[in-house]
Amino acid sequence: MEGLEVFSTEELKVIQEFFDVLAKRTRKTQKISNKRKITIIESWKKYDPKAVISALKVYISMKATSTQNEKYVLGIIRNKHKELGGIAYDRNSRSDEQSKTGSQERQEMLTKEQDSDSLLLKEALRKNNIANSKKCPFGICDGTGLIYDKEKNGHYKCDCAKLEIKEQKLKFASIPEEFKDFKVGEFDTEIYTRVESRENAVFVKNIAIEYVKKFDKMQSLGKGLYFYSRLRGTGKTRLAASVGNAIIKTYLKSVRFITTSNLLNSIKSTFENSSSFVDTYTTLINDFKNIDILIIDDIGSERASEWVDEMFYNIINDRMTSKKVTIFTSNYSIEELPVDKRISNRIMKMAVPIAFPEESVRSILSKQENEEIIKILLDN
Ligand SMILES: [Zn+2]
Repeated sequence: MEGLEVFSTEELKVIQEFFDVLAKRTRKTQKISNKRKITIIESWKKYDPKAVISALKVYISMKATSTQNEKYVLGIIRNKHKELGGIAYDRNSRSDEQSKTGSQERQEMLTKEQDSDSLLLKEALRKNNIANSKKCPFGICDGTGLIYDKEKNGHYKCDCAKLEIKEQKLKFASIPEEFKDFKVGEFDTEIYTRVESRENAVFVKNIAIEYVKKFDKMQSLGKGLYFYSRLRGTGKTRLAASVGNAIIKTYLKSVRFITTSNLLNSIKSTFENSSSFVDTYTTLINDFKNIDILIIDDIGSERASEWVDEMFYNIINDRMTSKKVTIFTSNYSIEELPVDKRISNRIMKMAVPIAFPEESVRSILSKQENEEIIKILLDN
């Protein structure tokens, strides 16, 4: 991989760490693709490697915001480069012992491997022992998560890579701790005491199961769900989170769970941060616009000011026009939602209203949970 040969093993470790931090910071749920890595590394070519490394170290230690992408990093590199003299850098002139060894090593590898650039990058990183400090938990691949297919002359994902993607997606989804392990199929319909509540619960459970099964179709239609009941604690959030969990596990999609108050607060905070308002605004809108599946919990629970409503409308409208799936929970029917009519009109188009049993099961559930815990505590 051209561009990496000037760096020492220690420096390559810094680069690897940088990519990890960049991946987290720019909210990419998956690792940065090799193609993107190559483009980034190539953009460093003009600069002193020392400037590059010290800039990356600065970036790694910074307080994180999602707007700090590779272009932002390039700005730091330019400054560092100027500090070091600012002359266009001649890559062949670097002669410290460590990087020379690394360079020779990599040169051998380059002549041996005549595969694609991305493979070379992978190899370069592997040689330096930084990409695969991990072992394949299934003992299938070499720890890279990729398996080479000789016949097709390409790579496919190992089960361990799929597992890692799933775990990263689950982490990113921010589903509240108490709902993290919930499965749609385990939604307890027997917990409701009234007959009509139980029938209603069986209905909503079946809808959720079928929705997950037919998710591809639902996604192409841009159809989400709208779980509502007047009473609190009827199981809406529990089932919405379960649907989110199932979609991640079954389809490896990006899901994001957010309460309405958190969503409105993040909108408000863009206004407080007025110096870079346009940036923060665009980032926020794009973040919420681009997530495959957004779960908005408890819509209607907070009254928003006009300008917050306007931005909320923009998010909802963008999601509707780009056919992104949104799942809502609420204590209001869509018609009664205390929001701007334009918002509720959009919601009607993008989500199917599902009425929940008007019976609160939260206290029964927590009683059950406590009994379980006591059982565990007393069990020898
Ligand atoms: Zn593997």
